[in-house]
Amino acid sequence: MNLSGKVALITGASSGIGEGVAKALALKGVKLGLAARRTDKLQLVLTEIQKQGGEACIIEMDVTDKESVTEGVAKLLNQFGSIDILVNNAGIMPVSDIDTFKIDEWEKMVDVNIKGVLNVTSSVLPELIKQKSGHIINLSSIAGRKLFKGLSVYCGTKFFVAAFSDIMRMEIGKKHNIRVTSIQPGAVATNLYDQISDAALKEGMENLSNQMTFLSPNDIADSMIYVLEAPNHVDVSELFILPTDQEW
Ligand code: NDP
Repeated sequence: MNLSGKVALITGASSGIGEGVAKALALKGVKLGLAARRTDKLQLVLTEIQKQGGEACIIEMDVTDKESVTEGVAKLLNQFGSIDILVNNAGIMPVSDIDTFKIDEWEKMVDVNIKGVLNVTSSVLPELIKQKSGHIINLSSIAGRKLFKGLSVYCGTKFFVAAFSDIMRMEIGKKHNIRVTSIQPGAVATNLYDQISDAALKEGMENLSNQMTFLSPNDIADSMIYVLEAPNHVDVSELFILPTDQEW
C-alpha cells in the first residue's frame, strides 16, 4: 500500500520510538499529527520533518485526559481533513516490586498505558469506521507476552494492549475494513527507563545495554513501515521484534 498522502496520528511522538516512527513515516509522504505533552520536544521533531520536506502538525495531548484527546483529534482532522493511521505509542514504565507499594506509579501506568490507549482509540475509531478503512498500531512489548519479576503492573498493561488489539482486530477487521497490529519490541534504546524510581531495577535495566545490542527506534519504524505498506488484504496482527542477542 502506498503511504504517500495518508494521515497518521502518533502519540508519544516527542521522543524515542514515536519520534523515530514519525520521522520515518514523514519520509514516506505521510502527513503527521505529532502528539505528546512536551510541545518543546515536538517542535524539534516538527522542524526536522519540515527540513526534509515532510508535513506535520504539533498536537499537545495528554492521553490520560479524554478532553485533551478529543481536542487533539479534532485539530488533526481540521488540519488534514481525514485520518488513516493511528499509532498508540505513548507509554511509561516506572517499574517496581509489588511489596514496595509504589501505588501512584501503578496507577500512572494504568492511566497512560491502558486508559490512554482506550481514550485515543475511542476518539479516532469512529473516523476510520466512517471512511471504512484505516490501520491502528498499538505498542505492546515483550512484556506483553512474557512475565518478568518487578514488572507486574507494566506487564499487565502490555498484556492488556496485546489482548485489546487482537479482539479489536476480530471485531473491526472484516466488518469495517480496518487493520489492527500489536507490536511487541524487546529492548529499544530510548529514555523509557529514566522514570524508574527503584534504584536496583533501574540499574538492572540500564545494565541490559552491556548484555545486548539494543534495537533502535529506527528498527521499530522500519518494521512498522513493512506492516503499513502490506497490501490492504494483509493484516500483520502481531509483530514480536527483538535484538538478535536478547536471549529471553
Ligand atoms: P520514551 O520515554 O522515549 O517515549 C514515551 C513517549 O510517551 C514520550 O513521547 C512521552 O511524551 C509519551 N507520553 C508519556 N506519557 C504521556 C501522556 N500522559 N500523554 C501523552 N504522551 C505521553 O519511551 P519509548 O519510545 O521507549 O516508548 C514508546 C512505547 O514503546 C511505550 O508504549 C513503551 O511501553 C513501548 N516499548 C518500549 C520498549 C523499549 O525498550 N524502549 C520496549 C517495548 C515497548 P511526553 O512526555 O512529551 O508526553
